[in-house]
Amino acid sequence: MENNPRKRRHIRRSDSSWFPGGAFLDGKTQGHANHSGVVLKRDISPEGDAILYLFLKGLGPITVYAPGASRGRIRFGGAIEPLTWANFNLYRGTKYYYLTSAEIKEGFWQLRNDPSKIAKLMEWDVMLCRHLAPRIPCDDVLALFYWSGMHLKSDAHPLVAEWRFYWKWLRCWGLAPSPENCAGCGAPISEARLTLLGFLCPSCARDGEGARLSAREMDLLRMSLSAPARAFAGLFPATGLRGQSHWAEVNSRLKRYFDAMA
Ligand SMILES: [Zn+2]
Repeated sequence: MENNPRKRRHIRRSDSSWFPGGAFLDGKTQGHANHSGVVLKRDISPEGDAILYLFLKGLGPITVYAPGASRGRIRFGGAIEPLTWANFNLYRGTKYYYLTSAEIKEGFWQLRNDPSKIAKLMEWDVMLCRHLAPRIPCDDVLALFYWSGMHLKSDAHPLVAEWRFYWKWLRCWGLAPSPENCAGCGAPISEARLTLLGFLCPSCARDGEGARLSAREMDLLRMSLSAPARAFAGLFPATGLRGQSHWAEVNSRLKRYFDAMA
């Protein structure tokens, strides 16, 4: 590929227009590396090369090329499908990472037959693509994304899993609103409204921003955050959960926290 000027031009163009963070490597040693992680995005160039945006342990989100992936010369099977978790064997060239092989660890295949759940997982994928800085390792968010997918697989309620995912992701960055104390006066919270400043008690939330969350709803929010990962789906099952509107409300509010940073 390096000797083909037409292809080289194409990759340079796609670097900036298709994916963020094209992998120009600055003086790093060439060689092989193995990283576990997930496929966030995949595109196929007109020449049949796959251009992947992988989220990898120890590397963060990074563009990886898989030459000939769709021409049959090298086949990676389901390992280059978005939302597939695998151990990726990479070759680090002078300018780019290349995929040499991959061993699938979790494909979430049964979720792909459930339109609402796969749509939710894709929504989180898009959030990661939009808000994570390329080539900045963030293994805590990577692990959180894995467990959030596993919660959907275990039939946890998607909206509760989403609240937990966004809140814990914001906590990794030190930006999560405390559900324990009012962000205005510091008083312990019973009922509250979620604003861009944080959860506010009724005395502090004077402008009416955000829907009112009852004491019971606040208890559920806290419980969903403190539940052990393995018990989460049992506590918040996809069916039989009443009063879903406040979960949608807090999720849309948390998304604004990410937008406010952009
Ligand atoms: Zn207050």
